[in-house]
Amino acid sequence: GTPAPVTVIGLGPMGRAMGTTLIQAGHPVTVWNRTPGRADDLISAGAALAPTPADAIAASGLTIISLTDYQAMYDILAPVVDDERRPAALGGKVLVNLSSDTPDASRRAAAWAAEHGGSFITGGVMVPAPAIGSRGAYVFYSGPEDVFDMHEPVLRVIGEPKYLGGDPGLAQLFYQAHLDVFLTALSSLLHATALVTAAGVPAADFLPGVLTTLTGIPAMIGDGAQLAQQLEVGEYPGDLSTALMMGATADHIVRTSETFGVDVALPKAVKSHYDRAIAAGYSTKNWTALYEVIKADS
Ligand code: NDP
Repeated sequence: GTPAPVTVIGLGPMGRAMGTTLIQAGHPVTVWNRTPGRADDLISAGAALAPTPADAIAASGLTIISLTDYQAMYDILAPVVDDERRPAALGGKVLVNLSSDTPDASRRAAAWAAEHGGSFITGGVMVPAPAIGSRGAYVFYSGPEDVFDMHEPVLRVIGEPKYLGGDPGLAQLFYQAHLDVFLTALSSLLHATALVTAAGVPAADFLPGVLTTLTGIPAMIGDGAQLAQQLEVGEYPGDLSTALMMGATADHIVRTSETFGVDVALPKAVKSHYDRAIAAGYSTKNWTALYEVIKADS
């Protein structure tokens, strides 16, 4: 059929990329952003700029929200739902919030939208803005399945939708868990680079090579199915990378960081996992036994 109208609220790099991709796919796109200047390129590409958030919501059945956090959504939409001149402003509307926040914040927002007659889908975008709409782009979603199914073809334009279930917190949980791996790895890359440059080695002599250590992780773990099974049952077999051996290295990284005056927060956090696993009796188990202390931390 004819491409459905879509509203995009929030025109940071991500919202702009999504708006552009939807326009290219032929959807009539309406946009709104707190700082209106960020809409300029989209307007040139054919988007309509809504004068107010209420007009933006009114323009389409489906509104995609791309903001820094969920509070920004309330800042924008609370005046809309509280406006007595527009009762039930969200009535029959679908909000798809692709902003980062906690799973609890997503659940509260779904309840808030329902209170005002709207449906709410939570999403987590798993690629950087320039990759939106391209092969390999994917987005986690959760929320009411019938609503998701109805809008799946539109959502598919920005990236492959991966629907996780009815709990609105679920997509956010998956987003956070993926970003947990991503942000920690990025900080470790910068920490490692700081370490070698503090020792006088140019970053260029180190950074390209260290990426093989990142790609070595999937090579070591495979598809993750076996590790998942071991973590599930609490078995940590293998003596090629014991907690004791890896823990000694973790200590060496802390001490080398101290020697060069580089930040020690990250390596100390890692060392603490090993110290506590060893103290708990897991020294001869595989490094995966760290899971016991990590999952128990309060
Ligand atoms: P930006 O921080 O660049 O954009 C934030 C948007 O939120 C802007 O439109 C900004 O408006 C608006 N905003 C923030 N606070 C308020 C407020 N109190 N009231 C009104 N508007 C507000 O983020 P991105 O576009 O990069 O990302 C958007 C979301 O997508 C984030 O949650 C991010 O985690 C997620 N994401 C981003 C990725 C990326 O590569 N960029 C990758 C995956 C997910 P204004 O222009 O007026 O400042």
